Amino acid sequence: PHQLEIRNLHASVGDQPILKGINLVVPRGELHAIMGPNGNGKSTLAKVIVGDPEYTVTEGEVLVDGQNILEMEPDERARLGVFLAFQYPVEIPGVTIANFLRLAMQARKPEGEEVSFTEFYGKLTNALKTLDWDESIVERYLNEGFSGGEKKRNEILQMLMLDPNYIIMDETDSGLDVDALKIVAKGVNSLRGPNLGGLIITHYQRLLNYIVPDKVHVIVDGRVVQSGGPELAQKLDTEGYDWVKELTVASV
Ligand code: ADP
Ligand code: MG
Ligand code: MG
Repeated sequence: PHQLEIRNLHASVGDQPILKGINLVVPRGELHAIMGPNGNGKSTLAKVIVGDPEYTVTEGEVLVDGQNILEMEPDERARLGVFLAFQYPVEIPGVTIANFLRLAMQARKPEGEEVSFTEFYGKLTNALKTLDWDESIVERYLNEGFSGGEKKRNEILQMLMLDPNYIIMDETDSGLDVDALKIVAKGVNSLRGPNLGGLIITHYQRLLNYIVPDKVHVIVDGRVVQSGGPELAQKLDTEGYDWVKELTVASV
């Protein structure tokens, strides 16, 4: 099956359990929003999916197109087309955006297959156009001296270049003004279609006005406590998170 499936996922930091049995199925072709109060495991879920060594999976599976990725190295996960946009992007001194993009594209290729200049440059030109960004940007060093908005735009540039099968976006909207938010959304929406699935993690509903999710799930205390359509995000926006917190207590 072409889907991202999270099955009874439990994960800890040290001996502190954070994810307590997450179940989700995201078919390729759908983007699902993950919402929830702060400190309840949203970022942990994203990091476990991409294999952050800080977190220990104690139970459960993450299946990408039927393959359990939890035992895979990060580069194997990348080859399956899983892409994470971080809440706090890193700076890598001395590496230009162009070099970084080229290396990242190469990492997604099967062994022995080179990224051609034509492929690279063709994709780059299209992606920069979508993001309304000047070509000179790619000679700058990765994230060095970038504003928050530029860092986010650069992440979306990476996403467009890598042509992922699944994206995991963790609070890509945090700290963005409306113009930057619209550019991020334009980039993501340009990738949408039957070949793209993923999770859009966001505390606020605002981003979901521009990237309308197929489904919305709410995580409280390491579990999905409620799922619904885009109207669920609207409800959280107007009513806040108190009612979902009560819901967890009631259902225990
Ligand atoms: P969210 O993204 O929903 O705000 P997180 O997944 O970042 O929540 O965090 C969930 C809980 O796990 C919080 O209590 C947080 O302090 C804790 N946590 C997450 N990562 C770590 C870590 N690396 N070390 C210690 N505690 C962590
Ligand atoms: Mg947080
Ligand atoms: Mg978070």
